[in-house]
Amino acid sequence: MTVPHSRPTLDDADVRAVVEVLRSHQIAQGQKVREFEEALAAYIGVRAGAAVSSGTAALHLALLALNVGRGHQVILPSYVCPALLNAVNAVGAEPVLADVNPRTFNLAADSVAERVTSATRAIVVPHHFGQAADMAAMTQFGVPVVEDCAQAVGSRWEGRPVGALGTVSVFSFYATKVMTTGEGGMVLSNFVDIIDRVRDLRDYDRAETYRPRFNYKMTDFQAALGLTQLSKLPGFLQRRKSIAETYHEAFAGLPVELPRPVPPADHIYYRYVIKVDNHLDRLLAASHAEGVDCQKPVFKPLHYYLRLAGHPNTERVYRQALSVPIYPGLRDEGVDYVARQMRTTLARFGN
Ligand SMILES: *Cc1c(COP(=O)(O)O)cnc(C)c1O
Repeated sequence: MTVPHSRPTLDDADVRAVVEVLRSHQIAQGQKVREFEEALAAYIGVRAGAAVSSGTAALHLALLALNVGRGHQVILPSYVCPALLNAVNAVGAEPVLADVNPRTFNLAADSVAERVTSATRAIVVPHHFGQAADMAAMTQFGVPVVEDCAQAVGSRWEGRPVGALGTVSVFSFYATKVMTTGEGGMVLSNFVDIIDRVRDLRDYDRAETYRPRFNYKMTDFQAALGLTQLSKLPGFLQRRKSIAETYHEAFAGLPVELPRPVPPADHIYYRYVIKVDNHLDRLLAASHAEGVDCQKPVFKPLHYYLRLAGHPNTERVYRQALSVPIYPGLRDEGVDYVARQMRTTLARFGN
């Protein structure tokens, strides 16, 4: 048996919805995109949404819509994928990397506090691996907060859905995210003027005045897939929690740190990330030999790319974090196989 690290979860209803749009010949951005925007905004509980072509495009346009640009600083974690850094650089602002809380993998409030200056124009706050970040802390600086919900749609902070707690929020619907449109993204906000600016910036045509604009539009057949995926989201989240329970039980008693949510944060287990004390690379190789595709959940921290020192918690979790396959489409046989193999492998390496 080989269990991939991640897979989309698609069924016949998804296929039918896409085919129906293709047969209609109205395939580019249109009514389905509008419906998808309204449906996700309603699900999260915010006033407005604008669909775009990727999570990266969503971050780029969210920063532009907040008027972030040259001479401004944007705070983001080092322990995250480069999409965030790309978006900050795309608007010409200076990226300022902060450290994470080693327990939650989310931005550490004290590290952010040390980096806030009069030039700080935004803090990009990912809800990493599906666990909500400390939004009470992140919103205390008087700086606009961009919630990055790419890994956390459906997660909650103090019982409230993430994506409704900052100034603006961004989502990704890449193939293996919580829900998918193949590629795709969304910007949500209670500030309708921000969403109006995103709508203006994602489409270069039919504008009265000129400014640099983009082609970041979503297609109607992607939006149709987004709508069927969203209708299945409650089931997806339930399945992720149930797989996580199986792993919690299987790995209990091993000297590894399991991903337990820290209240009032909820965790939807977009990733099931455990921390091991030693031998991460040998553990990864052993898991692959056993047919379980475990991965480092962050390929490389951003401060390594930028050749910066510091960020001790990021360095520690980077050496320790091991992501075990979890997705709604993983069947019970696969879950049991992963649980059994990984329990043995972790024990064998003294972790
Ligand atoms: C995937 C991801 C992105 C980027 O989304 P794309 O759709 O791949 O551009 C941004 N932030 C986080 C936290 C992600 O996981």
